[in-house]
Amino acid sequence: MDVINTNLINETRVIETFKSLVEIPSPSFQEQEIGIRLVEMLRGLSFEVETLDYQHSFNILARKRGNIAGANSLLLSAHMDTVQPTPTTDSYNHKDGVIASNGATILGADDKSGIAEILEALTVLEETGLPHGDIEVLFTSAEERGLYGAKQVDYGKIRSRYALVLDSSGEVGRVVLAAPTHVVYRMTITGRAAHAGIEPEKGTNSIIAAARIMSAITDGRVNSDTTANVGVIRGGSATNIVPVETVVDGEFRSLTPSALEKLMETTFNTARDIARKNQVKLAIKHEIMYGGYSFNAEEPFVELISAAISRCQIAPVYVKSGGGSDANIFNQHGIMAIPLSTGMQKPHTAEEYIYTTDLIKGSLLILEVLASLAQR
Ligand SMILES: [Zn+2]
Repeated sequence: MDVINTNLINETRVIETFKSLVEIPSPSFQEQEIGIRLVEMLRGLSFEVETLDYQHSFNILARKRGNIAGANSLLLSAHMDTVQPTPTTDSYNHKDGVIASNGATILGADDKSGIAEILEALTVLEETGLPHGDIEVLFTSAEERGLYGAKQVDYGKIRSRYALVLDSSGEVGRVVLAAPTHVVYRMTITGRAAHAGIEPEKGTNSIIAAARIMSAITDGRVNSDTTANVGVIRGGSATNIVPVETVVDGEFRSLTPSALEKLMETTFNTARDIARKNQVKLAIKHEIMYGGYSFNAEEPFVELISAAISRCQIAPVYVKSGGGSDANIFNQHGIMAIPLSTGMQKPHTAEEYIYTTDLIKGSLLILEVLASLAQR
């Protein structure tokens, strides 16, 4: 198939769109202002737009009919919120083809680069009438808060069976084929309080029991697909009291369901065993934050994306992620969702930056995927 002319992407426009989005602060649950702007922009691109309100914020769902019959509908998604407030006009730098944080805050390319690339692709479609199937756009809120916004969506409203999630770091061309299941847990260890100087033998020290548990369980990288981490510990109230309660918060992640199950079982059984020996009570609660997914490179939609990347003169790179994204939630709801890198670099740090050429490549890649779907 023909390669889409790179010149269709308006470099100045996509850069300006990106900067204008970065300059609107939108920490999680404070997406109101950017949301109003995005609704306006999508309406200007002939989209039917609705806001999906929930208790703490809202998501934006927009829809446009294709101009060609029989093409698969595609969902394009990115998140509106940022981990911290994004910079104001004078707190980032743009020179030599790089837009970078000035070191005081994050830049917010996570995920405003994704939004800017989607909007640029949609603008080119509106200008040129290139063939495309139905398009749905979902801009989520509170992604940085455990994918909270994506979890609030009524998935009965989404018609697309395929999605691109423009929210991964690194140069354009990276395709995230797998992401882990993420489980968090809390162990509450309860001993017995006693005066530490007068009658320590009457107490049972919950901190010591917790320490014994933690020194026995697996932590860090378990195998290439699986990690464990004890992240928070709280216990005790004063040096002269044998501490009655200690709370340990931790997490597990794995790309392999059986490895995850085994790790959870071993960890919790080890903890129960040690608790018994130390005569403390142990309560364990765990929660699945999101499910994982894994796709083969031979999957037709993955092959289509990979061919589209090649047509952009980029070598596709397949990666497995150690973290989740809205794609985890979409995949759980039966939408085949693949995260793509937008060009954002060092997200969540004050050294965050993006090459402006990646904004162009990212926009072009979205157009290429839409064009491929229109030809099937
Ligand atoms: Zn993100």
